[in-house]
Parts: sequence; C-alpha cells; structure tokens
Amino acid sequence: MEAEGKVAPVLGDMDKEEFRRFGHELIDWIADYLEQIEDRPVLAQIEPGDLKAQLPVAPPEKGEAMEEIIRDVDRLIVPALTHWSHPSFFAYFATSTSAPGIFGELLSAAFDNKAMLWRTSPASTELEEVTLDWLRQMMGLDAGYTGIIYDTASVSSMHAIAAAREGVEMRIREEGMSGRKDLPLLRVYVSEQAHSSIEKGVITLGLGQKGLRKIPTDSEFRMDVKALAEAIEEDKRNGYVPFCIVATVGTTSTSSIDPVAEIIPIGEKHAMWLHVDAAYAGSAAVVPELRHILKGCERADSVAVNPHKWLFTPFDLSVLYCRHLDLLRRAFSLVPEYLRTPEQEQVRSGSDYGIQLGRRFRALKLWMIIRYFGHEGLAARIREHCRLAKLFASWVEESPDWEMMAPLPLALVCFRASPRIEAESEAARSGRLDVLNEAIMHGVNATGKALLSHTKLNDKLTLRLSVGNIRTTEKHVRQVWELLNEQLRLLV
Ligand code: PLP
Repeated sequence: MEAEGKVAPVLGDMDKEEFRRFGHELIDWIADYLEQIEDRPVLAQIEPGDLKAQLPVAPPEKGEAMEEIIRDVDRLIVPALTHWSHPSFFAYFATSTSAPGIFGELLSAAFDNKAMLWRTSPASTELEEVTLDWLRQMMGLDAGYTGIIYDTASVSSMHAIAAAREGVEMRIREEGMSGRKDLPLLRVYVSEQAHSSIEKGVITLGLGQKGLRKIPTDSEFRMDVKALAEAIEEDKRNGYVPFCIVATVGTTSTSSIDPVAEIIPIGEKHAMWLHVDAAYAGSAAVVPELRHILKGCERADSVAVNPHKWLFTPFDLSVLYCRHLDLLRRAFSLVPEYLRTPEQEQVRSGSDYGIQLGRRFRALKLWMIIRYFGHEGLAARIREHCRLAKLFASWVEESPDWEMMAPLPLALVCFRASPRIEAESEAARSGRLDVLNEAIMHGVNATGKALLSHTKLNDKLTLRLSVGNIRTTEKHVRQVWELLNEQLRLLV
C-alpha cells in the first residue's frame, strides 16, 4: 500500500474513488491472507496485554489515512489473531468461513439493513424464510419446522426454552416469576454432557440453576434415557413441573448423540417440550447417509443448528427450527406504536420472535454459500471431513502408544497418548498420563503448526481433534499426527 494517504473529508463518507481503491486492495489483502495463512502460527503468539500495550489509550482527535489503519492491521492486529481459518486449526469445533460467505458479509455490511420488521428489510425477511427452508430440506427435517435466525446457538436454545415456558400457561410473560407463591419449580432436563449454554439460558430466563436437572450419560456419553424417565417421575412426585427436555445431537466434548427417538415418548408422556441442540452436528445431516443423526426430530418441538459451525458460514449464524412459532411469538412479540405497519398482519417480522429488535441480514451469506456450493458440494466437504477424522482415528487405534477415548460418530476424534508407564497404582498412572497429554497438547500448540484442545472424559484428560475447516486436507491431518508423535517422543 502507498505510504501517503488521504484522510476523511470534512463531512460525509469516504470519497468514492478512495473507497473503490481500498475495496480492491482489501480483497487482494484477504486473498493473500488466506493463501499464505499456513505460514502463520495457528495460535496467537502473544502474551496477555501485549496488544493493548501497543494501542493508544485515547482515540485519535483527527482522522487518519486508511493506509495507516491497514498498516496497523498488518502490524498489530494480525499477530494478535488466532487463525481460525488455518487448515491445521483442530481445536474446539474447527469452523471456517468460505469465499461466498465472506462476500455475503461484505454485502450485508454495505446494505446495513436492520431487519426488525418486514418493511425495514423485505429482502432479509423473505430471503431468510426461503434459505432456511432450503436448509431444512437439505437436513431432511420435515415441513412442520419453520426456521428463524439468531446469532448463536446459546441464543437459539434460550429462545426455544422461552417458548417452551410460554407453553406451560402459567402467565409468566404477564406476571413474571418472582414473588409468586402459586408457581411450582419449573424444570429443564439435559444430559451431563450438554453444553453450558443451556444452563446459561435457564439462568437468563429466571428459572435458576435449580431449574435444570442434569441426567447421567451411558458409556458412550449419551443421555441415559431410563435415568431421565426416573428423574422426571421423581420431580413430579415432589410437585415440580418438568416442562422441557434438551437433547444434544453432537455434544461439545465428544460429539455423542443423545437417543432422541427414545427420549421422544418420555417427553410426550409428560407433555414436555423437546428441544434438540444440534449446534455442531446438525450440519452433518446435509450428507444423505448421515441424516440418521437427526432421527427422532420428526417428533421434536425445536432444533438448533449452527451453520457457523460446520457449514462454512462466517460467524455468526445460528438457526432455530421450531414447530410452534406461535408460542415463540407469544413469548416475545411487543409492538409499540412506532413499529406498527399496515402490512403487519400479512408478513413475518423478525423482531416478533426474540429479544432483539434490529437483526443483521445474515441470511444473505447462507443463501450465497448454499447457491455456490450446492447441496452436493456441501455434503462432499462434510463427508471428506468425516473421512479424514476416521483416518486419524485409525492411526490412533493402530498405535500401541495412543488410545481412543470416545466413539467417533462424525469428525471429532477424542484420544490420548497412553504409552506404557510404570506407576505404583492405576490412579497414579492415570494422573501421569493427564500431565503427559496436557504437555503434548501445549507442545504441539506451541509449534504454531497446529492447534488442538482438550476435555475431560471419565476424569481423564482427553485430546480433541476436530476436522471442520474448508481448507483442511489429508496433508494437514498427517502433519498433526507427526507433531503429536514428535512431542510424545520428546516427553517420554
Ligand atoms: N451447543 C453445542 C452442542 C455446542 O458445541 C456449542 C458450542 O460449541 C454451543 C451450543 C454454543 O454455540 P454458540 O457459540 O453458537 O452459542
């Protein structure tokens, strides 16, 4: 970029020629960034506070040239990034953006629509309906589901629980929950492996942590259905009102899949809402031979899925599919005079279905992604990720120094090093293996060549390798396997 640059005009936005020039340069910058990303360390190699120490504490009095700003992006911001788009990012749930997704975000920022009412963005409102119906079809969900976009799965699931609560007909919207002697304890049920966002949603909705009951899981980390049934019966005997079950399809630690089809009759027996948190795994249902993971959802009440997790959609975009939009609307719709419109009875307005008024035009990027890759293209990429994860798992299984820690239904491998170590007891050996595996993980991450994360399963530190990035190939999976073995050799 050139050294000298123009600052902002006295009034109005950037000069249009400048905009054009920087627009082109920035797209080139992004293309280079993605092309050369493998030369960068996956994990930001800075210490806490390093970036803040390099930034002025006060805002600039006068505007600065774009050249200077972009130079600082290179100099200061990029080194402080953990590169989620790096193909050797295998931590958490490896997720990635894609070219059509980036274009979608760019256009959405240009349009800057606040899609609160149909008329404030007919395009966003109608495209959202159509695109989510496409995604529903691709996932094999039945036509009884209508989708609505939120930012994250945490928020999608919280809204599902709010709709379920509205369904208990206890006038909570009107009278609240505090100070009411007539209100029994309302309870939500999840497995011990459910994501913490469900608990946060329950807290946010004023149900309290006591309003959540965690059900044990079986040896494969799936909700124990018998224990669920017993817990609900017990709570009912104690005068509680069980009103919602949240099953997880693709838990965060292991991607285990709760037996939704077996949970259904329990929920139906007690007239409870069944929400399915498929934030991660739901996207895999676009692969025809993996559709079975959503088995049972034909009788669930709502399903959350995050295209920003495994459908190459830039953060953020979560979808709640719900059969009872009327309850969601009843829980949240509040239309003051200044938001009334002549067409309001004929159209859907996003703000009626949640706590947000203004909503980003998120459907645009998903629409562009689905059109660009097509159903087949999306399925092929997810199928390949599953193949790569299986390949990695086969190396773990064949090696005497490593072991699998959980089944592999999709593309998240849970494993750990388990070389022969002398120890006075099994507990002592297990403790030493925890220390070893943590050291291996930090060792690999410190190379900057790959990034892994961990969890604890049955009290054992477990490494997680998640394959989900659109740029990840077999080469990257082989490389991380070599890095892991190098660390093992160094440490044992
Ligand atoms: N549910 C599950 C199963 C998850 O794995 C996660 C995140 O990893 C979430 C919910 C929360 O996702 P979000 O960041 O979209 O709120």
